[in-house]
Amino acid sequence: MGLFGIPPCPPNQCPQCWQHAHDPAAHKGLGMFEDCPACLNHLATNCNGFYRK
Ligand SMILES: [Zn+2]
Ligand SMILES: [Zn+2]
Repeated sequence: MGLFGIPPCPPNQCPQCWQHAHDPAAHKGLGMFEDCPACLNHLATNCNGFYRK
């Protein structure tokens, strides 16, 4: 698996959040109830301009 299993990120989506949502490896190092710092950061900043639906 890895990058090949992820659908291409649409232009209106945040690439990082897209990857984290589709690639299990992105959160591989986190425990089941641990928050991903990258995802938390994007939640707080609206992905620096990207808006997720
Ligand atoms: Zn994440
Ligand atoms: Zn994001």
